[in-house]
Amino acid sequence: MAFYTYECGNCGNEFNVRENMSEHSTDVRECKYCHVKEAEQILFPSMLEFKGSGFYETTGKGKEKAWK
Ligand SMILES: [Zn+2]
Repeated sequence: MAFYTYECGNCGNEFNVRENMSEHSTDVRECKYCHVKEAEQILFPSMLEFKGSGFYETTGKGKEKAWK
């Protein structure tokens, strides 16, 4: 099993699809939200961007305060 992230070209929503790698195709598929067949697979989901420095900074400051 693997996760694939799709972004809809019609409504702009993103959703994940869990699928066997052998069954997976990179074809455009139907959007989970608006049911228009315009969702394309994206290789770098926006979720990864949240793991950037900004996220860690916030967490670090929170811990510092707890220590003092
Ligand atoms: Zn959509």
